[in-house]
Amino acid sequence: MTDAGTADSSAPTLARLTVLAGPTAVGKGTVVAELRRRHPDLFVSISATTRKPRPGEVDGVHYYFVGAQDFDSLVETGQMLEWALVHGVHRYGTPRGPVQDQLDAGRPALLEIDLAGARQVRRAMPRARLVFLAPPSWDELVRRLAGRGTEDPQEQERRLATARAEMEAADEFDHIVVNDTVASATAQLERLMGLCG
Ligand code: 5GP
Repeated sequence: MTDAGTADSSAPTLARLTVLAGPTAVGKGTVVAELRRRHPDLFVSISATTRKPRPGEVDGVHYYFVGAQDFDSLVETGQMLEWALVHGVHRYGTPRGPVQDQLDAGRPALLEIDLAGARQVRRAMPRARLVFLAPPSWDELVRRLAGRGTEDPQEQERRLATARAEMEAADEFDHIVVNDTVASATAQLERLMGLCG
């Protein structure tokens, strides 16, 4: 594993993009929510997606909910930093402009995306810090997915198949944070992003 940040001594103060990825149900959303609670000014990218909103989800807050054609045009016009077909069903992508604006202004930015997206960010922005959020164990991951009850058994199977492949890619990341408790995982992420103190 490498850490591009420690190697880049010529520009130590440049703000960095942090990418948080990890398997389904590992708790990425919960950790990001806790990080935002502790750092309300932190920029967290809002993704565009072709999936329909779930109850309680608000356009422009949780995601930009777009149609397939609008998504195509965002990709074709180079407005996506990365995008991926997630769990083989819907497309999700990171709008490039807002992320670039943050970094240009010297502010850190955070993305919460899937493995395919993280790999694309690594190619597009080699300085990005890639963090893998891992479950304490595989059995615990299966328990968390079943426990949240938002997916039917078929969808759970599909997500677990993706999760297996994602777990095998953990070594590609600069850092692995085990989500044992939300507090400790958030504290580790804070430290990695230089948000403490
Ligand atoms: P959900 O449908 O549960 O909100 O999200 C499903 C998955 O999509 C999550 O694992 C999340 O990491 C991934 N995802 C969300 N936004 C993006 C994005 O902009 N790009 C990519 N590549 N994946 C995303």
